[in-house]
Amino acid sequence: MTDPARTVTLPFPKESGRYRTAEQPVIEQLRTGRLSDTGRGPAVTELEDAFAALAGTRYALSFNSGTAALHAALHAIGASPAAGIATTPMTWISAITATFHAGSFPVFCDIEPDTPNLDPHALAALAPACSAALVAHAFGVPARMDALTTAAPLPLVEDCSHAHGALYRHRPVGSWGAAGCFSLQDSKTVSGGEGGILTTSDRAVYEHALVLGHHPHRLQVELTLDHLRPLVGTGGAYKFRMPPLSAVIAREQLRTLAARSQAAEDNLTVLREALHELQAPVTWPTLADGSRRGWYGTPVTITHRVRAPQALAHAATTAGVPLRPLYEDWLHSPLLQDRQHLERLWPHIAATDYRPPDAEAFPHYTAARRQMLIIKIPTRRAADYMHQVATVLSDLLAHHTR
Ligand SMILES: *Cc1c(COP(=O)(O)O)cnc(C)c1O
Repeated sequence: MTDPARTVTLPFPKESGRYRTAEQPVIEQLRTGRLSDTGRGPAVTELEDAFAALAGTRYALSFNSGTAALHAALHAIGASPAAGIATTPMTWISAITATFHAGSFPVFCDIEPDTPNLDPHALAALAPACSAALVAHAFGVPARMDALTTAAPLPLVEDCSHAHGALYRHRPVGSWGAAGCFSLQDSKTVSGGEGGILTTSDRAVYEHALVLGHHPHRLQVELTLDHLRPLVGTGGAYKFRMPPLSAVIAREQLRTLAARSQAAEDNLTVLREALHELQAPVTWPTLADGSRRGWYGTPVTITHRVRAPQALAHAATTAGVPLRPLYEDWLHSPLLQDRQHLERLWPHIAATDYRPPDAEAFPHYTAARRQMLIIKIPTRRAADYMHQVATVLSDLLAHHTR
C-alpha cells in the first residue's frame, strides 16, 4: 500500500537565533575572565534565584547536567541499596541510571492508560517495596502529583526535564515532591547548552545535594546542618557544579520561556482543532484544572489500532510531520537485563534485590508504544504550518490504522 502523496511543504518554524539574546551577556561573562566559579558566583546566583521563583521553592541548586541533579536529588532523599526507587520506563535512560548512581536501583511501574505518566494505582501496588519514587512529567504532561502522593507514602522526586514552567493544579512542577530536577541540555525548552537544576524547599535535601558535588568554597558558606558540617572541606567531590557560561545562557532562555510556551500552546490549539475538523482518530491527555503543560514534544494517542507503528513513524517523518521519536524500549536493553553489565558498572547491585524488568508486564506502556506519537510543537506562532501538519497526519492515520 502506498502512502498518501501530500507532504508538509513549509519548513519547521524554528526559533531564529535561539541563543541570540545570550550573545551580549556571554561576552560580558567572558570579559570577567572567570569561567569557573567555585562559590555561588553571580551568574549561578541569578539563575538559581530565577529557577526558585519559577518553581515556587525556597531553593534551587545548579548542576552541570540534569542527570547530576537527579543523582543528587535521589542521594539527598536517602536512596539506598536496601530498597528500590519506583520509576517509569517512559523516560530518558539517564533518569533510570540515576537510581544506580545514587546507590539504589529502579523498580519499574506502568504508566496511565491515557497519559505517558506513572499510574498512581500501579505505584500504590509497588510502594511497599520501594523507598522513593521518581516521577517524570513526561513530554510536558504534568503528572498527577496529588494522586501519586496519596498512592505512595514515599519521598517523591519530580523529573521536570520536559516541563519547565508547567503547573499541576495551579502549583509549579518541581514544588510538589521532596525535590524537582530540570535538565538544561540543548534539546530542552530552557537550555544552558548543558546543565541541570534541583529545586526543593527542604533545607536538608538542599544541603545533602550541595555536599555531593559542589566545591568546598560553596560548602563553607552554605552548610548549616551539624551532621554535614564535618564535610565542608571536601564534600563528596563529584564535581557537579555548573559553569557560569551555561548559567548565563540558561538565564536568558528563562526570560522568554513564558512567551515561547504560550506560542506553543496556541499552535497546539490550532493543530487539535484542525485534526478534530478532519475527524482524525486521535485523543489528547486531559490536563487537570489549573494545569499547564511544558514543552518537549506533546503526546497524542491514536484511537484506531496502528498496524505497524514503525512504518507509521517512518512515513510521517518522511512526509515532514515533526515527530520526536519515542525513547527506545529500555526494558529490553542489555543494560537493564544483563546483571554482568550492571554489576560491572555499579557493583552495589550485586547485594540488592534488583530484578531485570519483565518487559511484558507493562500493558499501558506497551500500548502507548504502539498507539502514541510525540509531536514537536514550534515555540513561535505558525498557524499555516500547523494546518499542513494536521492535513498530512490525518491522511497518514487513515492509511496506517484500522
Ligand atoms: C534530558 C533528560 C534528562 C537528563 O538530562 P541531561 O541534562 O541530559 O543530563 C533526564 N530526564 C529526562 C526526562 C530528560 O529528558
